[in-house]
Amino acid sequence: MSESLQNARRRIEELRTQIAEYNYQYYVQDAPTVPDAQYDRDMQELIALEKAHPQLQSASSPSQKVGGQALSAFEQVTHEVPMLSLDNAFDETTLLAFEKRVSDRLKDTRVLHFSCEPKLDGLAVSILYENGQLVRAATRGDGQVGENITANVRTIANVPLSLRGTNWPERVEVRGEVFMPKKGFEKLNEQQKQAGAKVFANPRNAAAGSLRQLDSKITAKRPLMFYAYSLGLVSPSDFSLPSLHSQRLETLAQWGIPLCPDIDTAKGAKGCLDYYQLILTKRDNLPYDIDGVVFKVNDIELQQQLGFVARAPRWAIAQKFPAQEEVTRLLDVEFQV
Ligand code: NAD
Repeated sequence: MSESLQNARRRIEELRTQIAEYNYQYYVQDAPTVPDAQYDRDMQELIALEKAHPQLQSASSPSQKVGGQALSAFEQVTHEVPMLSLDNAFDETTLLAFEKRVSDRLKDTRVLHFSCEPKLDGLAVSILYENGQLVRAATRGDGQVGENITANVRTIANVPLSLRGTNWPERVEVRGEVFMPKKGFEKLNEQQKQAGAKVFANPRNAAAGSLRQLDSKITAKRPLMFYAYSLGLVSPSDFSLPSLHSQRLETLAQWGIPLCPDIDTAKGAKGCLDYYQLILTKRDNLPYDIDGVVFKVNDIELQQQLGFVARAPRWAIAQKFPAQEEVTRLLDVEFQV
């Protein structure tokens, strides 16, 4: 083995171990010890090294897996349709390359249409409705197996326990993000401080810690909200749904499911970049925390043609915002957020 290959292998192993530890702290302990920007840098370095040295790739690398793990304290739920992650873009070039990759794969030069959505910084949750009634809710976990958090999700004020109307599939899984609005987060931390209890590092950790409580009475007191962003399982599978993702979101709204009010659609990567700039400008004044925006090919048939890779769909990308640079000291942890 050449020296450069040996160095690459050493660095890859170092990064895999480090990222696995970050994942444990973030997903299992709900207590990250480094800022997301640091995590993203390490992950990008790992991905670049694995790309440059495909012989060192491994199916068990954190770059190939959905981060997270179901806590054994909860009943486990096996997802009938896996819950995946998203690929990331950190600049304009990566977004343009994404559009080109999609068009090349579809062998279609027409301008693509995208659904544009704020990337809410919370926790992915699947909510199953049977005959219009909420019967089960689960976390993403490792994408295959999540935690049964039905009792906790039932306490979230804007999650309907029954769907409106009568025209829904017998079984339908609504996917979206549980998050803590900024105002609620500030109030909760104030209360925690006064009670001498744990102060949360950011709204995402507060949401994760609140949702994964064994006692749903505690969850009920936390200011959590839910916004849907897609459908998972639909049964019967030939149930008639609109052909565009954006229209399917409107269908969810007709069933009484809450959606993020800042969702839009755009033409081509150029339209997506305009949306990115708009949301970036609005970011500080939004009532919820976001860490970027998500672009999804809007046509469901094209999504199906594009399919998935190991941990993410080929038809979507998350464009992350630049890290906010102020240094925060919380508990005994100091990092930039
Ligand atoms: P991700 O957060 O990059 O993207 C996938 C997730 O985005 C989904 O599971 C969903 O929860 C969320 N999402 C929000 N809005 C959405 C929308 N409109 N449509 C679809 N999904 C939407 O991927 P991930 O695997 O959940 O987490 C990786 C990220 O988490 C990293 O990039 C990093 O920022 C952070 N992280 C940080 C640490 C740390 O130690 N600081 C550790 C692990 C992960």
